[in-house]
Amino acid sequence: MKLNDEQTLLRPYCGNDEFRPSMWHPFFDSQLNAVCATDAHNLIIGDKDLFFNEYATLEKPLGIKNVLPHEENTGIKISYKKLNECFDKIPYSKKHECPECGGYGRVDTTYETKTGDNLSIEIECPICGGTGNVIGEERKDERYLVRIKDLCFRYKSMVVLEKTMENLHIKEARVLALTNSRLFVELLPGLKALFMCFCETEDLDGNDERKDSDLVIDYPVNKGGKK
Ligand SMILES: [Zn+2]
Repeated sequence: MKLNDEQTLLRPYCGNDEFRPSMWHPFFDSQLNAVCATDAHNLIIGDKDLFFNEYATLEKPLGIKNVLPHEENTGIKISYKKLNECFDKIPYSKKHECPECGGYGRVDTTYETKTGDNLSIEIECPICGGTGNVIGEERKDERYLVRIKDLCFRYKSMVVLEKTMENLHIKEARVLALTNSRLFVELLPGLKALFMCFCETEDLDGNDERKDSDLVIDYPVNKGGKK
């Protein structure tokens, strides 16, 4: 079996960090004998045989094998419908996380010293003026977190999962692991995805605008597999 539209499937997982060009495109991981795409937060990984296109092997492997959690029988499934029901609870906002600094309010910049060296320093983000937010069109408030058991995932990450399920026409993804800040799911036989959480329940903090428990939507986890 081959995947239909592998570009549409893989692209949302690719990174755009200018300092990590190896993540800009999908690649072949020889250790895993699999095609991967990752932005260091989300990862998709599929058996080579699923893909029609050939992907280049990275000169310096990213060591993906080491970040994959041990697979276990969690009895948990992520349902496309339930995920969308979580998204429905997220309000719209005109205030968005600053795309430049990712809400941090500060960015790294480099400058050249008199001796010709390049130094990197952290400065207030020039786009948002250090607030971490910008005002734009009204859309879903991306500060919201979807919590699966004790792990809180960014809305944006869960949208990537939702779009992937939509592309593949699957209603459920089986959870292979939900541990060590990671959600690891099987999408199809030989095709898996990994999502890093933003924080855990114990990290939620009312004094931190980005980790306010008011921003958490709970995904309903039914253990045991019964519907
Ligand atoms: Zn900013």
